[in-house]
Amino acid sequence: MLATCRTTTHSPAMTASMFREGEGLFDFTLLDDVSHRGFMDNLELRFQKGLIYTNVGEQVVSVNPFKRDLPVATVSMDDYRNKFMYEVQPHVYALAEDTFRSMINSKRDQCVIITGESGAGKTEASKIFMRYIAHVSAASAEADAIKERLLQSNPILEAFGNAKTLRNDNSSRFGKYMQLDFDYAGTPLGGQISQYLLEKSRVVTRADGERSFHIFYQILSQPSLLSSLGLVADPSQYQYLSLSSCYTVNTINDGKDYNEVVQAMQTLGWARADFGYVTQILAAVLHLGNVQYREDVAKSQQTNTDCVEIVDKSAVSAVAKLLQISPAVLNAALTTRTITTGFGARKNEITVQLDLAQAVFTRDALAKELYHRVFGWVVERLNDKLKVTSGYSQVRIGVLDIYGFEIFEVNSFEQFCINYCNEKLQQLFINNVLRSEQEEYLREGIEWTEIDYFDNQPIISLIEGQRRIGLIPLLDEACLVGQSTPRDLVDKFTNSFGTHDHFDTASSSRDRHLGPSDFRIHHYAGQVVYSAELFLEKNRDQLNVDLIQACLGSKHRLVTYLFRDADKLLNNKKRPETAGFQFKRAVCDLISTLQQCEPHYIRCIKSNDLKRALYMNRERVDHQIVYLNLVETVRVRKAGFCQRMHFANFLRRYKLLTTSTWPNWYGSDYDGTLQILNDLGIDPAEYRMGKTKVFIKDAKLFLYLETTRAQV
Ligand code: ADP
Ligand code: MG
Repeated sequence: MLATCRTTTHSPAMTASMFREGEGLFDFTLLDDVSHRGFMDNLELRFQKGLIYTNVGEQVVSVNPFKRDLPVATVSMDDYRNKFMYEVQPHVYALAEDTFRSMINSKRDQCVIITGESGAGKTEASKIFMRYIAHVSAASAEADAIKERLLQSNPILEAFGNAKTLRNDNSSRFGKYMQLDFDYAGTPLGGQISQYLLEKSRVVTRADGERSFHIFYQILSQPSLLSSLGLVADPSQYQYLSLSSCYTVNTINDGKDYNEVVQAMQTLGWARADFGYVTQILAAVLHLGNVQYREDVAKSQQTNTDCVEIVDKSAVSAVAKLLQISPAVLNAALTTRTITTGFGARKNEITVQLDLAQAVFTRDALAKELYHRVFGWVVERLNDKLKVTSGYSQVRIGVLDIYGFEIFEVNSFEQFCINYCNEKLQQLFINNVLRSEQEEYLREGIEWTEIDYFDNQPIISLIEGQRRIGLIPLLDEACLVGQSTPRDLVDKFTNSFGTHDHFDTASSSRDRHLGPSDFRIHHYAGQVVYSAELFLEKNRDQLNVDLIQACLGSKHRLVTYLFRDADKLLNNKKRPETAGFQFKRAVCDLISTLQQCEPHYIRCIKSNDLKRALYMNRERVDHQIVYLNLVETVRVRKAGFCQRMHFANFLRRYKLLTTSTWPNWYGSDYDGTLQILNDLGIDPAEYRMGKTKVFIKDAKLFLYLETTRAQV
């Protein structure tokens, strides 16, 4: 089933080193049998030998081995210097080299898109990539300082943005696009981190057996920090941490990680005081979780509405003290709400009592907002230190490490956003790799059999909306109506999309598995049932006016800074943007940035759910191969051509290989190209002449041309 080694006359030495007995094929395009089965067999064969990387042309497929000390992890980066991907064994280093060299040669921005589900190894791959770039890019005292800062930003980002989940002990709970700026010679000048959709709900709720963000446990591991923050070391004393009954992770040492974070902050030159402010806010969040309510019976009878009171005022005092807010103001903001009616002279403010559910919601909203703003601030500080201050930035490399497709037991607004983002990335992938390849062959008049692939545009239109009708715009519209219920929202969806091929609700499909506030989207990667229960609140994503005012009244340096835009929010007549709208805009901006870059892909596969070393669960891997579209990608590559070059470029580059074209060729570029290929005795089956470009079928021919050229 595996292709036999085709030794050509071009470069036997090189070929021999690339094919190793019993190791399977280093590139899936060399498969004779491009079927799912053939793909899987080759992947598994290699994986069992510890070969976790395999190419599909210039893409790298990486399977998470859950094992650190494999030979692939210890190869020398220098072995990959100035090598093409087909000259070396597959590795993220090889792809990084290709990316870096393409940037230098073409002066075009490059991006690396790393995809895969949670725990597939995306973040590890991005770190390996960065390490390689840091290793090979030009060195100078300044450049080294930048590289050090880039690498040091990792522990900080992970402390604040990662958490232990059931799938991954160190799961990134935010999307990250990290751009590096270089001058024309490839010297790093700085960088920029963009973050997407931090899972802030994790601060107040999460699945059993998972943890909140690492930083909370890191702080509690430091006895010297505790007393000034009014904290105790035992995390089970904090509701926000105890609710998922998981405090320690055997692969994580919180105390050690804390020291690493402090070390990184020192390297980055952060003021110690700043981190002090951060820990105060994080401690306030923990205390906030301990604010417990009970129904205030007397007051409820008196006012004839449900009223709550706070059980133990000490938690409120602790929060107030840490955030430097008046305890009375905070207490009021956590139990009541001010409603403004009328305008101008008729403006009237009334105080409404919160019921138990509303009070809990309000408290949690504050905790999430504080954490979210702190995270935003941390990234801002990192960016301050990475800003390009000298030199002229010419080109960039961006690395996208973003949550893969998610299907949980219960899928909410967060999964909806994440899966929407993955649809957009999938479309970019289709455009980049599949469609553009096919279109080019068509344009060039190259003979070509169409490859079927699933175009996910209808799903994107369903979510984003065309002419305003789409799930996100409809959700926004429902948020404008104060009294909308989740069922109203689902009815609204059904009215517009009841007959859509990729959408079902209980009433449109008569599916008994769907509840009245559920809806199902047929994503490219599978069907997902979403519960609309919290969609409206999560999309509105508003802190109530009283809490904003309470924070605005704070004397705390960092709280004041974090809420500096909040008074605008209060006075703004326009409605604040919804979370869905903001996310859509961020994703569309990201996609348009990526579109302007030359793309590189690392496709990560999770080998098993048990985190067991070098163990492959075929069923789990099967599914990932399907939704990463890997077999189609191989088919396109294989049906296609590994390299293409404009005739003029080809002639310029290889005219020195034959005396008929060297030193001067007076004919057309087309004829010159053909002349070179004929003179070298290349079999016409190995290439095609298009209208403007020559297409080279096999990487080995290209390699032969390059190596011969280098020897002349
Ligand atoms: P993702 O970012 O896709 O959710 P991670 O990159 O965090 O996944 O990987 C999850 C875990 O899997 C890591 O913490 C590590 O233990 C293991 N892992 C991932 N990639 C590798 C690798 N290349 N070699 C060894 N272990 C890995
Ligand atoms: Mg990750």
